[in-house]
Amino acid sequence: MNKIEHIGIAVKDIEASNQLFAKLFNKEHYKMEAVESEGVKTSFFQLGESKIELLEATRDDSPIAKFIAKKGEGVHHIAFDVTDIHAEVERLKGEGFIVLNETPKKGADNKLVVFLHPKSTNGTLIELCQEII
Ligand code: ZN
Repeated sequence: MNKIEHIGIAVKDIEASNQLFAKLFNKEHYKMEAVESEGVKTSFFQLGESKIELLEATRDDSPIAKFIAKKGEGVHHIAFDVTDIHAEVERLKGEGFIVLNETPKKGADNKLVVFLHPKSTNGTLIELCQEII
């Protein structure tokens, strides 16, 4: 894994959170993007080589809606940049990590993404992401 690509934060109201985080970082988000398949609206802030991704649910059955119902707003996942996501999935499976989707799916921000179950990573949802070139 190369670096922390972004940290995902679940929020109830992405417009209000865009304003809050713009004040916190003293800069505006650089893009918003909906991922229909996941039922989320996302917003990205660039901080050096890492990003913050805000996530708001667009449906009641969205994983973000379920997360907020259970735990409230807050850090939802940490995403790590990888060079070869298929090779990483094979390696991590071999190490005993539980992979939630073995076939990488299209995530926000032009990425292929795979999630690891928090049960196998000390309670933290891990996202692997590889830039689609
Ligand atoms: Zn993410």
